[in-house]
Amino acid sequence: MVSYKTIGLVNTKEMFAKAIDGGYAIPAFNFNNMEQLQAIIQAAAETKSPVILQVSKGARNYANQTLLRYMAEGAVEYAKELGWENPQIVLHLDHGDSFELCKSCVDMGFSSVMIDGSHLPYDENVALTKQVVDYAHQYDVTVEGELGVLAGVEDEVSSDHHTYTKPEEVVDFVTKTGCDSLAISIGTSHGAYKFTPEQCTVDPETGLLVPPMLAFDVLEGVEKELPGFPIVLHGSSSVPQDEVATINKFGGALKSAIGIPEPWLRKAAKSAVCKINIDSDSRLAMTAAIRQVFAEKPAEFDPRKYLGPARDNMKKLYVHKIINVLGSDGKAL
Ligand SMILES: [Zn+2]
Repeated sequence: MVSYKTIGLVNTKEMFAKAIDGGYAIPAFNFNNMEQLQAIIQAAAETKSPVILQVSKGARNYANQTLLRYMAEGAVEYAKELGWENPQIVLHLDHGDSFELCKSCVDMGFSSVMIDGSHLPYDENVALTKQVVDYAHQYDVTVEGELGVLAGVEDEVSSDHHTYTKPEEVVDFVTKTGCDSLAISIGTSHGAYKFTPEQCTVDPETGLLVPPMLAFDVLEGVEKELPGFPIVLHGSSSVPQDEVATINKFGGALKSAIGIPEPWLRKAAKSAVCKINIDSDSRLAMTAAIRQVFAEKPAEFDPRKYLGPARDNMKKLYVHKIINVLGSDGKAL
């Protein structure tokens, strides 16, 4: 048993309370490798933004849960070396799917876990979430639950259609489970192909496809039922079209990749939404930079010469998200 407190991590409790009061949201960035983690920590340290490092099932399969956990411990020390005296870093399990998995993360030093029982019948979701909360709270680890189902594909989490969260269920769920935050479904979606072109309209000024508007009425309904309670948005990448264009220009084939417009997320960040998950956007930034190096310097074979630019491009994206979408810069001085 390792407590996250001894390795310099924090849970989400105080972070979320301040974010709701301050009208901003905390970035939750997924990481799978060193360059991505360096980029996240550099961006957070430079902007003095609290940050949530997320480990998904795919990341655990790819990089190993133990290794990722020790990388997060290293990240705290790295942040201090970068001059961030009081780093506010959460290590969070994304989409935990069983009590045993959540327990193993709590035991090895994660400061926050998500138990995703959203695909289960309501009563089973309540029971599973409560079981995780009862365990995690003994060690001051915070727990994110989920109600409603998101469409899209993210690692092994997938659904072909979304079911909006029912505001009339949230008070009962939060009261019975004791969870610390709640992921809801309001039309965001996992992956880089969130919507088909047929679901979108064309912006007459830019010619770009605009996805269906998020269900802000559902968010408002949830806020009314649970005033001041931390709400989480998954599937909130914006799929930057300049990165998609770079990928396609240098040999990629991303057709009709469409995300959530950043002004909509900015609007959500000002509400009770205090955690916004971003994964696909950093995959796109990484891939665009690597494709460009491969196309322009075909003789290059030193991984540092293409992973370095990929890291720089991801950092630029993270800084942009923190300042222009989340509004969390300067909140962890
Ligand atoms: Zn998710």
